[in-house]
Amino acid sequence: MAAHTPGTGVIVTGGASGIGRACARALAAVGRPVALWDLVGAAAKDEAAAIAEEFGVAALGVGIDVTDTAAIDAAVAPTRETLGSIGGLVHAAGVVRAEPVGYLDAEKWDAVLDVNLRAEALLAQAVWADLTANPGSAVVGISSIEAFIGQAFIPAYAASKAGLLGLTRSMAHLGGSVGVRVNAVCPGYIDTPMLRNGVPPEYIEAQAAKSILARLGRPEEVAQVVRFLMSDEASFVTGTEIVVDGGTMATGGQ
Ligand code: NAD
Repeated sequence: MAAHTPGTGVIVTGGASGIGRACARALAAVGRPVALWDLVGAAAKDEAAAIAEEFGVAALGVGIDVTDTAAIDAAVAPTRETLGSIGGLVHAAGVVRAEPVGYLDAEKWDAVLDVNLRAEALLAQAVWADLTANPGSAVVGISSIEAFIGQAFIPAYAASKAGLLGLTRSMAHLGGSVGVRVNAVCPGYIDTPMLRNGVPPEYIEAQAAKSILARLGRPEEVAQVVRFLMSDEASFVTGTEIVVDGGTMATGGQ
């Protein structure tokens, strides 16, 4: 069974931390070369070295701002060279900025939309020729259950994650005839630095308790689903999303 197109490399943005890091590890564990593109270059490089050592695949850490088109274009060639090919993209880089209810900050809006949404389109465009050249290529964007819930204090985040679902469908249409599948994953509350950073622990525990499974998810539990979507096991899955939330949506979402 060749569940993963042999040897084709995957770019994982946000690969230095949390869900992106877990995705890079899950893919490397099934033999996929991985490039970890992250704002925190030192952590991306350290993690890539650890992955190469642990899983015996080519791995590259790149310090990059994925909102920077020129930087993206410059990073593609060295990534292709190290990985041997680019047959996948996982866009896990993301930011959240809380805003007072009823108040929008234009700078925050742009920053959140740029990283969470616009970057996936720019990234896919930069590697589209690579993806179409490799049969079985796939793109997965990390959206969120906030695409459906849209809590009042994170309007830009909710809009970016809902927008990602529209982008997913548009790119899936584009990729359908050229062998590129495009999907999204919508995690619920996952125990990562993003969730912990600046959020009162009582709030996190209360949210976790409301899910059917009554706990936070682990980054690895999201990564397993991403790995499935990146594999040939998901050969008839495109233009859609999978919710990975321990049942939070099923209990009413918030
Ligand atoms: P995290 O903060 O642990 O990781 C995010 C990574 O993205 C970091 O390494 C950061 O350096 C990188 N990054 C941020 N801006 C960047 C930029 N401009 N260029 C390159 N890299 C950049 O967070 P996480 O929880 O692992 O989040 C991963 C994704 O999952 C995000 O898109 C987030 O919105 C989404 N998500 C997280 C949760 C959760 O509960 N943790 C839930 C739903 C969705």
